[in-house]
Amino acid sequence: MELTFSCPHCGLVGRVASVESTPTVTCRGCSRGHPLRSDAFEGGGLRSCAWCATDDLYVQKDFPQGLGLLIVIVGFAISTVFWYLERPIPAYVVLLASALLDMILYYRVPDVTICYRCLGQYRGVGSNLEGRFKPFDLAIGERYRQERLRAEQLRKQGASANSPPPA
Ligand SMILES: [Zn+2]
Ligand SMILES: [Zn+2]
Repeated sequence: MELTFSCPHCGLVGRVASVESTPTVTCRGCSRGHPLRSDAFEGGGLRSCAWCATDDLYVQKDFPQGLGLLIVIVGFAISTVFWYLERPIPAYVVLLASALLDMILYYRVPDVTICYRCLGQYRGVGSNLEGRFKPFDLAIGERYRQERLRAEQLRKQGASANSPPPA
């Protein structure tokens, strides 16, 4: 199972190919190490986030965001040209083809499991064993978003408290 994480210290995005057998990851940007929890896995599947230990994770299609929408918009734009040329059949065909393409992509594209807290992404076998994790829940997402905002504020306050007073 692969983990994609964002370093909390320098923001650099890193990747761990086999997160189950990696005890510590080291950031390429700032060389800081971060321990990974081995108890995050159970029976070959992910149980909680190996990075931050929360068991609130969600699944979504591993799809560049907006790609599905883009396909539909492009299909619509092309069909508009055919409508303008008064050729309704190709217009319908293009609309139908773009809807089909969107559907095929949706079913072909694998899932990615994402941590609500640290936004770490898990891909590969066992990342959503037996459909353990559910799609994004707005209420849970909002709770963790607030938590991140508070943490950010505390960091800023800490940083300004440590900086020398203006001359
Ligand atoms: Zn870093
Ligand atoms: Zn996490």
